Order: sequence, then C-alpha cells, then structure tokens
Amino acid sequence: AQERYASIRDKPAETRDGAVLSLQMNAGLMADLPSLPNSGAEGVGLFRTELQFLVRNQMPRRSELVALYARVLDAAQGKRVVFRTLDIGSDKVLPYMKPNDEPNPALGWRAIRVGLDKPGIMRMQLQALIRAADGRPLTVMFPFVAQFEEYREARKLMEKTLAAEERLGHVMPASIEIGAMLETPSLAFAPVKFFEEVDFLSIGGNDLKQFFFAADRENERVRRRYDTLNVSFLSFLEGIVERCHATGTALSFCGEDAGRPVEALCLAAIGLRSLSMRPASIGPVKNLLRRSNLAEVRKVIADARHRGEMSVRPSIMEWLREQT
Ligand code: PEP
Ligand code: MG
Repeated sequence: AQERYASIRDKPAETRDGAVLSLQMNAGLMADLPSLPNSGAEGVGLFRTELQFLVRNQMPRRSELVALYARVLDAAQGKRVVFRTLDIGSDKVLPYMKPNDEPNPALGWRAIRVGLDKPGIMRMQLQALIRAADGRPLTVMFPFVAQFEEYREARKLMEKTLAAEERLGHVMPASIEIGAMLETPSLAFAPVKFFEEVDFLSIGGNDLKQFFFAADRENERVRRRYDTLNVSFLSFLEGIVERCHATGTALSFCGEDAGRPVEALCLAAIGLRSLSMRPASIGPVKNLLRRSNLAEVRKVIADARHRGEMSVRPSIMEWLREQT
C-alpha cells in the first residue's frame, strides 16, 4: 500500500485551498522505526513508551532505556519525536507489577496518576530521556492529564530532574518541550493559564471519545455506537481548537481517527493542522487531503448540522462520491 502513495510521499499534505498539514507517525517499538523515512512522516507525533515496558518480563534498567531512546532519536535523524511518558495502570498491566484490582481500570490509577503518586519510575524515565537526548532537542508529553495541577506537578518533576542531571554533569538537551495529552474532557475546560503554560497539546482521541460518550473503547457492544463524526463530538473538538488558537497553543491529534482519511479530513476542516497516525495511514490521509477543498468540507458539515443530523458522516460520504 505504501508504494501506491510513493508519488506523493515527498509532497506536502496541502489541501486544494492551501491549508498545509503536518502528518506524523505513531510508534512505540523499535520495529516501527524503519517506517520513519519510508512513510513520509514529518516526525514521531506519539511514541508510546509503555510498549517497551509491556513486551518484557522485567522492569527495564535505566541504562537500557537510555540506549533505546537514543536509538529512536538516531533513527529520527533530527526529526521531532514526542516521547509520551508511561501510560500504564490497571488497564495496561505490566507483567512484573502487582495488578490492582480496580472495578473501572480506564478511570483508575493509571498514567500520570501513577507517575505523580510513585515518581520513581517516571523520574528514571525522564533521566533516561535526558541522557539519550545528549544535547539534542527533547520533547516529552504526559498522558492522561485531567487537571492543570497534574501538568504543573509533572513539569516540576521534569525541571527538578533536569537540574539534578546537570549537576551530575550530563549534557542538557538543546531545547525542551513539555506537553500534555488532552484525553479527558475536563482538560478542555482548564483555565486559560493552563493553555498558556503548556508547550503543546495532543488530543488523544481514543480516550477522549470514550470519556465524552461514556462508552468503553474496549467494549465491543458499545464502542462503535458513537461516531467520531457525531456533531456533538465535532463541536467539542472545535472548541478545543478555538481555545488553542486563542492562546497560541500548538495542538495536534494523535488518536486512531487521525489515520482514517474521512475523519482526518473533518479534523482538518475544523482547524487541526497536525495529525499523528500509524505509518501506513499517512499515504491515504495525505492523498485525500490533497484532493480536497476544506472550505467545501466545512460547508457540508455546517449544512448537516443545520439539518439536525446526528453525524456528518453520511453527508461527507455523499459529497466525496460526488467528487469522483
Ligand atoms: C489516545 O487515547 O487517543 C491515545 C493516543 O493514547 P492511547 O491510545 O495509547 O491510549
Ligand atoms: Mg490514551
């Protein structure tokens, strides 16, 4: 499939009406790295660090993490890599961690909540990232931030770790960006100050959608019940885009929907300009974006809303059929 899109691989993801998008790839295992030059990705918009922890049967040592993250940065050849700190907890249980018996693991003690309550592992991970960067730019993102205070605390931990590493004689990263995932609806309504303080935000659409509709993403009975192109969800996403626009906050979208061409087109239409997806999706998404006029897509969305439709999907699909 990658070959089918080879002719546009080095072309920009630019729509007919001149909107230019940045398309990045999601990764997490070393096996993903060869895709970086082949897919046409501008960088790694989401590196899920927990995958490395999940595939092993004991806790990796810090030195192993340093080597691993350095290899990721080497493979990226100067392109930006967004390292997401561990998103583990009772929904992603490490084989060597005592499982917590939680009735609602997706809503439980996971991700940044574990990282802040038991900072040992997160500190080790941050040290490994700083050492792996070894003077190169470093981008870190905290998962599952639900309120401003959690971001502040995590950021403080990063700053303390940096200072300690510097005292130990390690080279500081050339630049540091510290962002957060927006994957709980609460964060969309955080104070303006949060949007001003965070270096960037990335919408984790998989989690954000499950919490928005209160529909478990793992539950086959409900997970397909609510469409990403549901007008309520699109309005919600639009509100996030507007808040980021007003505060000048860099925003991207890294959930699975970013890699679905029709969804990606609608995300672009409501103002997103940075999408991160599995590498094989970059070609198909870019192809549709390059053939589309976002002003027309916005008109289709507005008309569907005006008619009171539940999802804009049928209208978009009809419009797409008329295009060909
Ligand atoms: C998400 O929630 O959309 C996301 C990108 O993170 P994960 O799928 O790893 O939870
Ligand atoms: Mg998530």
